Amino acid sequence: MRLPALILIVAMGLAGCVPTGTPAPVAQPAGAVPAPQSARAAARQFVEVVETVEPVAERECRRHAPGANCDFQIVVDDRPGQPPNAFQTLDAQGRPVIAFNLGLIAEARNADELAFVMGHEAAHHIAGHIDRQRQAAAAGAVIFAGLATLTGADESGVRSAQELGAAVGARSYSKEFELEADRLGTIITARAGYDPLRGAEFFTRIPDPGNRFLGTHPPNAQRIQTVRDTVAGL
Ligand SMILES: [Zn+2]
Repeated sequence: MRLPALILIVAMGLAGCVPTGTPAPVAQPAGAVPAPQSARAAARQFVEVVETVEPVAERECRRHAPGANCDFQIVVDDRPGQPPNAFQTLDAQGRPVIAFNLGLIAEARNADELAFVMGHEAAHHIAGHIDRQRQAAAAGAVIFAGLATLTGADESGVRSAQELGAAVGARSYSKEFELEADRLGTIITARAGYDPLRGAEFFTRIPDPGNRFLGTHPPNAQRIQTVRDTVAGL
């Protein structure tokens, strides 16, 4: 087993999987508030989770997506003061990259939460969401531009319709993709020896996006139910 590389990166301008915003305060019974982790303990816990989950994610990737690049690279966005976030992307060579920022590493209450986020991000790659989102964006652009042309829009009108279509196309599957990533992420988390239900409690502390039309994230309650259903089927 090769240990995943930990690399510090700066600014990656990509939308992540955790809706940004200040985490909502959680009502805790008196005496049950966990002590804030020291930076050293949080870093140690993060490295341990990465080393445990990465080989499981790689194995699930090879099983579900034969032919895909399953050599996950884990990176940390070390800009201070950012709201908790994590996302999956591909580097120039098509290698899957999972990025966590410091805000998320600090906000996670336990190893299960970190493992769940990592399983979820790995699942986005395994399910091919980046490619599928690009295809949806391309289809949206073509359809909107076609409609604009039919209704006699000028060149700049067609161009804005194309941009709008790409945005609508890219967002149209995002809630479905999040739930799919929650399902497969639950399996990866459990197979790595962590508790997905405890891990998914992270959602109860981030702002609930509700059910906005074309919002990018499903409501938190729906995500937690998805995790419960998946655990029940394991
Ligand atoms: Zn996601």
